[in-house]
Amino acid sequence: MLLRHTTASEIERKALTINPAKTCQPVGAMYAALGIHGCLPHSHGSQGCCSYHRSALTRHFKEPVMASTSSFSEGSSVFGGSSNLVSAIETIFTIYDPDVIAVHTTCLSETIGDDLTQIVSKASEDGKIPEGKRVIYCNTPSYIGTHITGYSNQLASFVRFFSTATPKKKNVVNLVAGWMEPSDMREIKRLASVLETRTIMFPDMSGVLDSPLTGKYKMYPDGGTTIPDMIATGDSKFSIGLGAYCTEDTCVKLESKCKVKFEVIEIPIGLKATDRFITSLSRHANVPVPDSITEERGRLIDFITDNSKYFWRKRVALYGDPDTLIPMVEFLLTLDMKPVYIVTGTAGKHFDEEMQRMLKEKAPEARFKSGERADMFLLHQWIKQEPVDLLMGNTYGKYISRDENLPFVRIGFPVMDRPGNNIFPNVGYIGGMNLANKILESLLNHYDRTCKEEKMELQM
Ligand code: SF4
Repeated sequence: MLLRHTTASEIERKALTINPAKTCQPVGAMYAALGIHGCLPHSHGSQGCCSYHRSALTRHFKEPVMASTSSFSEGSSVFGGSSNLVSAIETIFTIYDPDVIAVHTTCLSETIGDDLTQIVSKASEDGKIPEGKRVIYCNTPSYIGTHITGYSNQLASFVRFFSTATPKKKNVVNLVAGWMEPSDMREIKRLASVLETRTIMFPDMSGVLDSPLTGKYKMYPDGGTTIPDMIATGDSKFSIGLGAYCTEDTCVKLESKCKVKFEVIEIPIGLKATDRFITSLSRHANVPVPDSITEERGRLIDFITDNSKYFWRKRVALYGDPDTLIPMVEFLLTLDMKPVYIVTGTAGKHFDEEMQRMLKEKAPEARFKSGERADMFLLHQWIKQEPVDLLMGNTYGKYISRDENLPFVRIGFPVMDRPGNNIFPNVGYIGGMNLANKILESLLNHYDRTCKEEKMELQM
């Protein structure tokens, strides 16, 4: 019993979070920066922050994550980190030669009040930024928000520094990617190409954090949105934002800067969210949906129908990021499962409203919460009050799963103790089958291990 001190009875907590269902802002900013080709993320703060953020991403993706740091010492903590950043910019371009440096702040540099606009201007005036190279930046104070806020802030900085409108709009749709796996981005691009649409996805971590082993190390892998593509997003005729928390702000900024109209929908996890994505892309790119996509959809429906007896009324507890949880809960309801406990550490009304709307008829007993106090300790307490059949979320849930003897499906960030999340997609109709299959495997393996001997069947 590793979590033996978790009690079923709740005590009101106003200023204490236990096992948060979130991580810090710069992790998100660093992840998003890796989705631009030739970009080196730079952490403006102490070495410890940068090491933590890099290791969080490396442990999840099983790929080396490169990033630099302003390496604050006691002196910079008192007098500010301006000179550290200016000399870092010079050193990085001299030694590592990226096309772009994407600077994000940390708690320390935000508390000092370092002004990135002024510091980067000084670096430019002093000739530290070579011709054709760029330094972009965003603010990511981690005492507010979460890794999702950091991701969103970094995305908005891409629009601020790159997107440019010329007088002529092109027949291209921007796919503004929320926090997803590289495998999910690859699958969305495959769907877009099957529909024969012209799209620009940004950011794009496919080919960056799922690169093949070739025996040759590339500091800047082949993938990522290129700078010319990023500039061209201002000439696209429409943007589809995938996941409101990560992409809405960016879509709004792109519309206001370059007059690119937009629609924000869910990440296409599950049948209905994928339907909405395909419909939106088909409508805005003005292309028909080919039969091959309809067939993929049919196979997912067949899979769900064949296995409905195993999914039916199974109670699920899940935690993670709101852009993942919203379509995930919808998919569980499509499977006739009962998502009964849902928590996210990222605060926001949209999550609460969507949960209310989706759960009121099919799972009115469900409890959900967002924000700092919506932590995994609370989720565990709810499970202790009335058990569930399945737990879904990142690696940190394995302790609850073990203590409560629950089948456990790993999804979200970070998943450090199992491989595959950056390889096998969870989005689209194929991803839906993958996800439903993971749920099924987990439930049936648990049943086979724990059922009475006389209930053990070869064919279930
Ligand atoms: S919470 Fe703040 S101090 Fe801690 S790792 Fe994140 S940025 Fe650094």
